[in-house]
Amino acid sequence: MLKSIRERNTAVLPADLPIIWNNRLRKTAGYCYNRRIKSSDGSFVRSSRVELSSKIVDNSARLRDTLVHELCHAATWIISEVTGGHGPTWKRWTYRAMEAFPEIPPISRCHNYDIETKYKYKCSGCNYSIGRHSKSLDVERKVCGICCGKFELFVNKKNDKGKPMPSTPRTPNAFALFVKENYGSAKKSKENLKHKDVMKILSEQFAATKISNAIPEERD
Ligand SMILES: [Zn+2]
Ligand SMILES: [Zn+2]
Repeated sequence: MLKSIRERNTAVLPADLPIIWNNRLRKTAGYCYNRRIKSSDGSFVRSSRVELSSKIVDNSARLRDTLVHELCHAATWIISEVTGGHGPTWKRWTYRAMEAFPEIPPISRCHNYDIETKYKYKCSGCNYSIGRHSKSLDVERKVCGICCGKFELFVNKKNDKGKPMPSTPRTPNAFALFVKENYGSAKKSKENLKHKDVMKILSEQFAATKISNAIPEERD
């Protein structure tokens, strides 16, 4: 497809526009780096370089969709000579691309692929999750930044319903139970509380109960 993009646009994008695989690009599927160099006659030469994440772009459909998105950035920069992210000029290029290739899916503003990581750490309190390519998170020491809940490790294996399976059989932990029992009352304790605030209150309360539990009870 790249060849045909180039053929259809011979007058526009340079045929030697670098397209490079990058295995360290992990936050986005692709990126278009734009440069402007002053040449000896004082004029400016614009160039672009597209990098694709080999970790995220792992099938041909993603390659096609990411590449056409990034080439629209390159066209915006080199041909239309403007910047401006996913603004009107970039959008116009996506319409042209979609006109030229009606068979491809609509070009979206962001590469919203679920980044396929082998391991997923999910907070048992608020379900916030982070992906890792290795077992790099120490779940005994690191707690959730949103609610201080405990992380649970999931390996990217799916059960028969297509849901990711926990690496160890799930046992509800004390904090998760505490959240379940007290979420409603904490939410009502103040007006307009966001989920994050409720979780903060709950984790403080939970910590307090742990402390009070630790104190030996007085006998009368
Ligand atoms: Zn973009
Ligand atoms: Zn959490």
